[in-house]
Amino acid sequence: MRIVFFGPNGSGKGTQATLLKTELGIAHISTGDLLRAAVKAGTPLGLKAKAVMDAGHLVSDDIVLGMLEERIGQSDAKNGFILDGYPRNLAQCAALEDLLARIGQPLDVAIKLDVPDSAILARCEIRFAAEHRADDDPAVVRKRLEVYRAQTAPVADHFGQIGKLKTVDGVGEVQEVFQRILAVLPR
Ligand code: AMP
Repeated sequence: MRIVFFGPNGSGKGTQATLLKTELGIAHISTGDLLRAAVKAGTPLGLKAKAVMDAGHLVSDDIVLGMLEERIGQSDAKNGFILDGYPRNLAQCAALEDLLARIGQPLDVAIKLDVPDSAILARCEIRFAAEHRADDDPAVVRKRLEVYRAQTAPVADHFGQIGKLKTVDGVGEVQEVFQRILAVLPR
């Protein structure tokens, strides 16, 4: 099963993607995690990405596509994958569709977690206090919500137009939301 998972940062998509990975035995590919690992390792790419990420903007499409392509080629992604945080704009969406057509692995479904901005801001504030991730700073979260609405929401609309989008209510207990996700997966 090949899944694209949408939802603003703080919508709980990372948690749900991890559960889904275990349930389906497929790879969980988070471009945010790949970028954070590059930042931590201090690679040239990581150094370039850090300031952009800390400000809540999107890292360049070329950098992210290169990382994604390499990750999708790894053996644990052979049975399928959940893309968490990619594609974030229409250009990335087109690049993804090209890549998947090239390797003969089209997407099965796109899932969008629906959570109101107020709930996202509240969740990120809690995580900021606990983990001190610069991109959870409330001003940065607001910026990211803006970027999501302007650039990522049109990608979800695109999947809606081609009949592949399932929207799931992301408000509720983790297990409750997870059951809603399982219920919309194609059989
Ligand atoms: P995330 O953990 O998915 O919210 O990603 C954290 C940050 O990494 C984002 O705010 C962006 O700066 C960057 N990032 C992650 N995925 C992408 C992507 N697909 N395109 C551009 N930037 C990304």
